[in-house]
Amino acid sequence: AKADGRDNFSFFTQSLNTKIHNEVDIINDMQRAFYDNEFKLYYQPKVDAKSKKIVGAEALLRWIHHEKGLIGPDVFIPISESTGFMLSLGKFVIQESSLAIRRFSDLGYNGLKVSINISTRQFQNTDLYQDLKEELSKNDVDPKQLGIEITESIMMQHIKKTLTTLQEIKNLGVSIYIDDFGTGYSSLSYLKKFPIDTLKIDKSFVDDISEVGNNDEILLNTILAMGKSLGLDVVAEGVEHEYQYSYLKEHGCEIIQGYYFAKPMPEEEFIKLLHEEHL
Ligand code: C2E
Ligand code: CA
Ligand code: CA
Ligand code: CA
Repeated sequence: AKADGRDNFSFFTQSLNTKIHNEVDIINDMQRAFYDNEFKLYYQPKVDAKSKKIVGAEALLRWIHHEKGLIGPDVFIPISESTGFMLSLGKFVIQESSLAIRRFSDLGYNGLKVSINISTRQFQNTDLYQDLKEELSKNDVDPKQLGIEITESIMMQHIKKTLTTLQEIKNLGVSIYIDDFGTGYSSLSYLKKFPIDTLKIDKSFVDDISEVGNNDEILLNTILAMGKSLGLDVVAEGVEHEYQYSYLKEHGCEIIQGYYFAKPMPEEEFIKLLHEEHL
């Protein structure tokens, strides 16, 4: 048993070493990749449940590595967040999304809403309001076409300062979405206090919708009712199946995002999709 334990231990340290090396490699490579323009924004359509028209998109970061190919945010965002590199990436996302909205508008899609994700560190360590204001005015973008997605955990930290920042951003005309809604700890009274426009129902609640109807949708229904009574828009994310889409539509969820309609895609592909009347 002892020898076993030692073996396990050396296996453990070895894999830990590999992990650390990988992370160091990634950290060093990210700087290079940033200057080589390997980071791109992909766009996942948000679709109006009734008309099936594209009403917006969520911008999602991708790393298109020259050797390794496509690297997803789950690999590089947590590392970026811990090293502080996320601040550069976050700024890039604001710049790039503003430019993209400008391009969409120039093509005639000036009612389209694009939302970007804001990390905890970015929210706390940058002047988000100033950064958004600058980029929007530089590219002559209507702030109504931009939204930020933040999590409940951001709202629950430094509550007073967060409230002030969100109010400034809201006054600018930018919309505020609560991401992964239902997985955090925000109470109804907080939701009332913060200048929120939209709840994004987390995929885990959408997954509760069953094909055969076994009444597992209690939490989902509660969130839908909550959104309604607070006068907030509700977006369902992670919708993969027709029966999920139907259920949500029938229960008053107005906007749908998920593989059922489309996966996140490069800007050129998204523009092609916009040209189609509906999905
Ligand atoms: P998120 O903000 O919750 O984004 C939704 C994630 O669900 C995306 O994963 C999207 O591709 C995926 N998704 C959408 N529809 C479906 C579906 O029907 N089924 C399934 N299984 N998945 C679906 P992605 O693009 O890998 O992003 C993962 C996370 O990385 C995001 O979760 C977000 O937290 C973070 N992230 C991505 N881009 C950015 C960014 O620009 N800034 C920051 N701070 N975080 C980002
Ligand atoms: Ca999001
Ligand atoms: Ca989400
Ligand atoms: Ca998530």
